[in-house]
Amino acid sequence: MSKILIVEDEESIADLEKDYLELSGFGVTVKNTGNEGLDAAMNNEFDLIILDLMLPGVDGFDICRQVRNVKNTPIIMVSAKKDDIDKIRGLGLGADDYITKPFSPSELVARVKAHLARYERLTSSGRAENEIIEIRGLKIDRTARRVWVNSEEKQFTTKEFDLLTFLASNPNHVYSKDELFRNIWDMESVGDIATVTVHIKKIREKIEVDSSNPQYIETIWGVGYRFKI
Ligand code: CA
Repeated sequence: MSKILIVEDEESIADLEKDYLELSGFGVTVKNTGNEGLDAAMNNEFDLIILDLMLPGVDGFDICRQVRNVKNTPIIMVSAKKDDIDKIRGLGLGADDYITKPFSPSELVARVKAHLARYERLTSSGRAENEIIEIRGLKIDRTARRVWVNSEEKQFTTKEFDLLTFLASNPNHVYSKDELFRNIWDMESVGDIATVTVHIKKIREKIEVDSSNPQYIETIWGVGYRFKI
């Protein structure tokens, strides 16, 4: 259940907003002064804040500014005067939306839902993590296509990267040069299985301390290669 904070000094308005939002399935907390509202916003995790502009104590401008310094929680600012909305916009406080009184509760609920959905999309895409393979001192970021050996970044060509990643993603599996060639190079590629040997050599020069005694990619004589784990 999404949690919403309402900061509103007019209790009848706060109650109306609360009732409609609760009917729509939200958890609602109401604070009637600026100080209490700011305290609640800073010390709790809400999914959205509905913030009245004119409040006793700290006003909505200040609350918005202070919350925005540390949190990305969507904020809908509420004002009795249309002029204030222009002022809020002009200040660039980082509010996500503005609504003037009087407004219909259903309009408020619709906007709340829209902002929650947008915020959910933003945070879930931001949370997507890169796909990382880490084996001893070797770190491969498949998403960013970057490779580090003992924290030092190394540059790989496209095919070197593809070949290394393919082997490292399938450790302890022996592949013949032919299989590797078919997996990494497409049908139109010019080359043959000797290309694989050349690429393995180049990869080893970058990831191995001693290429003649490889710790990552082993040669299985007469068969092919295996990524050792
Ligand atoms: Ca007010």
